[in-house]
Formats: sequence, C-alpha cells, structure tokens
Amino acid sequence: MTAQGHQHLGIIGGGIVGVALARSLARRGAEVTVLEKEARLSQHQTGHNSGVVHAGLYYKPGSLKATLCAAGRVSIREFCEEKGLPYREVGKLVVAVDETELDALAEIERRSLENGVPDLTRIDDVSHLREIEPHVAGVAAVHSPHTAIVDYAAITDTMAQDVRAAGGRILLHSEVTGIRLENGRVRVITPLGEHVFDRVIACAGLQSDVVARLVGADPSPKILPFRGEYWELAPERTDLVKGMIYPVPDPRFPFLGVHFTRGVYDNVHVGPNAVPALSREGYTWLQISLKDTWESLRWPGAWPLAKQHWRMGVDEISGSLIKPLYFQKARRFVPELTMSDLEYKSTAGVRAQAWGRAGDLLDDFAVDQVGPVTILRNAPSPAATSSIAIAEYVIEHYLAATPA
Ligand SMILES: Cc1cc2nc3c(=O)[nH]c(=O)nc-3n(C[C@H](O)[C@H](O)[C@H](O)COP(=O)(O)OP(=O)(O)OC[C@H]3O[C@@H](n4cnc5c(N)ncnc54)[C@H](O)[C@@H]3O)c2cc1C
Repeated sequence: MTAQGHQHLGIIGGGIVGVALARSLARRGAEVTVLEKEARLSQHQTGHNSGVVHAGLYYKPGSLKATLCAAGRVSIREFCEEKGLPYREVGKLVVAVDETELDALAEIERRSLENGVPDLTRIDDVSHLREIEPHVAGVAAVHSPHTAIVDYAAITDTMAQDVRAAGGRILLHSEVTGIRLENGRVRVITPLGEHVFDRVIACAGLQSDVVARLVGADPSPKILPFRGEYWELAPERTDLVKGMIYPVPDPRFPFLGVHFTRGVYDNVHVGPNAVPALSREGYTWLQISLKDTWESLRWPGAWPLAKQHWRMGVDEISGSLIKPLYFQKARRFVPELTMSDLEYKSTAGVRAQAWGRAGDLLDDFAVDQVGPVTILRNAPSPAATSSIAIAEYVIEHYLAATPA
C-alpha cells in the first residue's frame, strides 16, 4: 500500500484535474472525497473549453507544461480508448499567414521537436498546405497530425464513475468556505457540513487563490479571469475546416489566438479570444462582480500589466463587441469565410490565469504546499490534456513523500 493508502483525502474542485486526482488516489486505495460547489461536475473551465488534446507544440522545453502535456496526451488517449469515449486525431495546422510570422513559426517548430511532438512536419509550399486544409491561406505551417479532440466533460464524468466504483465520494453543492488546520489534520467547512481529512488538495480553478487564502497561503499569485468567446460556424459551412487551424501565437501573451476547431460532434467553432472577465465566473459582459473587478484593479500587478498589454486588450475587447473585427481575425487564414458563416456566439469559457504582484502572467503550472494542504495555483491550458499526468505529478511530488 502507498503512503496515501490509509489516508482520508479531501479534494476541492470537481473539474477534470480534481476528479483525475481523486481517481488516481482511489485506485491506490486512498479514501477520497471530492467537494464541488456546483450542482454538477465540470461547470467551469472543464466544461467550457476547446476540447483539444494538445500535442505540446508551444511550451518551453523542460517546463511542467511541456512534460505533463506529453504524458497527459497519452494517458487521455488511453483512457478514452479504454472507456469507449470519442477521441479523434483530426490534426492541427499552425499557419504563418505572411513572412513576418516565419521566425515565430520556426521557434514553435524548434520547441515542438524538443518537446517530442510526434510526427510533426514543416510545410513550406501552399499546395501541400491545401492538401491538409483545402481552404486555408498562408505561406508556411507546422502540422501536428496527432493533435486530437475530445469531450472533457464526458471524460470527467467517466472518471467520476471510477472514483465512486473504488469507494470514493463526490459531494456536489459543497462549497468550501473555511479550512482549519487541527493537530496535523484538516477541517473543511461547507454549507452542508464539516469534514476532517488527513490531507486536502485544492484544484479550484478560477477560485484557487480564494481557497489558498482560506488556509493562509500567500495571496499571490492571484487569479485573473480571462474570458474566451467562441462563434459557431453555420452547419452548411463546416466543410471549410477539416481539423484545426491555428495562428502563430504572440509569444508575449499566454493565449493561442482565435483559431478554428472541429469539435468532437462535428461542429466547428471559431475562437476563443481573450478578454478580461468582469467576474471570476463571468461568461458574458453582463455578468459583473464589483468585488472581483475591484480586487483585480487594486492588485499591485494591475498597472504594470495594463501598461504592457493595453493595445492587445483594446484589440481583443473591440473584437468581442464588434463582430466584423472578430471576423477579420478569423478570415486571415480562411479567406472564403463570410461574415454570415459566423452564425452565432456560442458558449464562452473563463480561463483561470495566475498573475503575480509585478503584473507577470504565470506561464507554467504551479503548486503550493501549506502543511497538509496542497494547492494547485495555476492550471491553465493545456491542463485538461495534462490532467491525468498532473494528478500523478501531485501524488509523486506532494503526497507520496510526506505521509500524514
Ligand atoms: C476558453 C478555454 C479554452 C480551453 N481550451 C483547452 C483545450 O482545448 N485543451 C486543454 O487541454 N485545456 C484547455 N483549456 C484549459 C482547461 O480547460 C483547464 O486548464 C482545465 O479544465 C482545468 O481544470 P481544473 O479542474 O483545474 O479547473 P475547473 O474545471 O475550473 O474546475 C475547478 C472546480 O473547482 C470548483 N470550486 C472552486 N472553488 C470551490 C470551493 N471553494 N469549493 C468547492 N468547489 C470549488 C469549481 O466549481 C470548479 O468545478 C481551456 C480553458 C478555457 C477557459
């Protein structure tokens, strides 16, 4: 039996990372309880994302993002195969639309090769580009044939079945509002009652800094919520895109830029953009939390960040409010796209992006430890891809070595 085998472990958060962790621990014989504040699992980032299983093209070689994405991609594929869940390798093109983007494309190619992205190829002639995506425009690209699409909410539900089958509990409507350390154990308070655990692991996404503060951890990094909005392609126009078409991202910014993704149910969505959300769980401009907005504005990092990125901010917000501007971004790669092809604004997701006091946006996954409480502080994309590998990493580095 492992160090976790005889322990009662509490996990805060019923997104894919919390549930993957619960599953890994339950399979090792631990008694696990997942506490989720919503009425269902996957109500935040996990249920509102692009559904892409990333192959690891962009991440700094050697970083946690790079290593856990590579391992996580394989684990998610095996999980979907084992459970009969959809897993479609539709492939991805990252396209340089003109010569000014070639250096940045070369850097992505270099990182991809260093990260061991399987079967990646560089494409320099347009006819080859068009064999892969017949409607794309650009001067060069890299192609990752094993980048895949899945349904992360379905994966999380299936992992939750494994947790229950192994004797674990998943408690909904259970928002953690207090955490107290008592004689080496952890008392967790929810509106439905209190629980005492040997160890607690928080995977609270958009609320990870709020939960960290409950246990007296450093308020930094704070979570800056960035909404990503999608438009849906009209069904009769989805043949414009066979797999995924991405721009060359701006290396100064942690988001990938508006892209085309064929979803697992054959819809094609365009997005996401990246606009500041006016509430941690603000899925539209009308969902405003004065508290969240005020807390972001008075954070020491607010002005350095605004000074550095205000142009991009204005550009993204304009694209959110004015459809023709969003359309122009998308049409750069697919010139046959017309404005009416963007049929309606579909779902949006809010990214939990950790943000330091100096205005720096944290690039890598980050974990903190306060006594018997482990807190996942930054788990943005590709954390859904990496979820099973993140679970194994947390167990190995934070739980296995320090039994209660
Ligand atoms: C627009 C968008 C597109 C993305 N695209 C991709 C992609 O294509 N591929 C990819 O790999 N990743 C993608 N990501 C990132 C990915 O979705 C997240 O990294 C991943 O879902 C994080 O999982 P999580 O479990 O940490 O967080 P979440 O899914 O946000 O789960 C956290 C859970 O904690 C709960 N919670 C919070 N506070 C409390 C509390 N006090 N008590 C109890 N419960 C609490 C919340 O209700 C929530 O259910 C995308 C994200 C967004 C927003």
